[in-house]
Amino acid sequence: MFTKILIANRGEIALRVLRACRTLGVGAVVAYSEADRDSLAAQLADEAICIGPADAKHSYLSAPAIISAAVVTGCDAIHPGYGFLSEDEGFADVVRAHDLAFIGPSAEVLERFASKEATRRLLGAQGLPTIPGSGMLRDEAHALEEAESIGYPVLIKPSAGGGGKGMRLVRTPRELESAFKVSRSEAKAGFGDDALYLEKYLDDTRHVEIQVAVDRFGNAIHMGDRDCSVQRRHQKIIEEAPSPALSDAARQELAERALRAVAAAGYENLGTLEFLVDSKGDAYFIEINCRVQVEHPITELLTGIDMVALQIRIAAGEPLGITQADVVPRGHAIEFRILAEDPAKDFRPQAGQVGAYLAPGGPGVRMDSHMYPGYDIPPYYDSLLGKLCVWAPDRNQAIARGDAALRELLVDGVVTNIDLHRAILANQVFIDGKVTTNLLDRVGSAPFVAAGNR
Ligand code: ADP
Repeated sequence: MFTKILIANRGEIALRVLRACRTLGVGAVVAYSEADRDSLAAQLADEAICIGPADAKHSYLSAPAIISAAVVTGCDAIHPGYGFLSEDEGFADVVRAHDLAFIGPSAEVLERFASKEATRRLLGAQGLPTIPGSGMLRDEAHALEEAESIGYPVLIKPSAGGGGKGMRLVRTPRELESAFKVSRSEAKAGFGDDALYLEKYLDDTRHVEIQVAVDRFGNAIHMGDRDCSVQRRHQKIIEEAPSPALSDAARQELAERALRAVAAAGYENLGTLEFLVDSKGDAYFIEINCRVQVEHPITELLTGIDMVALQIRIAAGEPLGITQADVVPRGHAIEFRILAEDPAKDFRPQAGQVGAYLAPGGPGVRMDSHMYPGYDIPPYYDSLLGKLCVWAPDRNQAIARGDAALRELLVDGVVTNIDLHRAILANQVFIDGKVTTNLLDRVGSAPFVAAGNR
């Protein structure tokens, strides 16, 4: 096992990794930017080190700053969290070159799965169904040609993509030209890589994902599925497990297929395979995330596995220590992403100071948040303030617990989406377990906002 881990991230995930380190009895150093000097993770850690200014380019995205911090503080491993450098094969390689361990897949594995377009082909060849689409697009004329043969509507997707950035829905050839340009420049700005591909746009699908873990000795397990269909602009807002869209037989089959395919493709460490499931129940692979997901706590609630500790142990060269038979998901869990944004004002992100803050409690309630009364939300990063997760023996009870916990959760001083969550929970489509990824964008958030304000 490692002696000391540098946590090269911020917000709630920095805190989550710190907690895993403490449980494992491993030292931890929190790396923070000047804007995060007063962050909860930095305050709670035994050691913390400033890695640069607020601008992530010069701190959380700066390999030299992070590696120097690890060396100076005597760390032997770096945990990248999610986002930032967590899936950057160049960073993983530089970390290794400095005799440090990267907590995640190796640079070679990250490189193999770096392009979404290539990963579609790779896992398609391992037997996972994919959505009809194109290879990498050369130019607009090529895009038009491919879209014609796939059939409209199509989705333009950045191959280096993430967080829904740069994706464009195109319904006609006329729309394609300008959408192509916009996607290309958004992809370049967002990921430093403007490679694009096309996928047939599937209406009314659900987002279902499979959690896997593979160690260096070829031991591989899946930890079941999560449903992330409640989205806004392709970004997840509420996640639940197991997915109400799949029968137990279907979820088992999908998880086993996903695990077989990814293990055969040489994957290692923690990973998530994302699928879209259509109204017939057919699942199509869309992408893999080679890191810990924001929504991992609901799988932890179902399985009792500390997934971040598992991830660290795998990176330290330990065997999984559990088999598939040991993974027995129980009950139902829901995660609500608590965001500092105003649903009534087009979800504008809110900066400012948190006044009073009260986290909910009771059986089956877990709050992962870096907030505290008086916390100044820096305007430089994403708007995630925390994740409220609930567990109950079944879905209806989980919904009831979710509502009770949301009522208890108090965040003063900034506008949040807490009421929006309550309105979604009370919505019949959600109660029936029938939400598709386009629901919020199609009906808009107004009915939910209005209901939440009652
Ligand atoms: P990102 O990597 O940017 O998160 P994904 O490929 O994971 O992008 O897709 C994010 C979301 O976009 C999905 O959950 C789904 O809502 C939507 N989406 C992606 N591909 C398609 C598709 N082919 N048809 C319809 N919706 C899609």
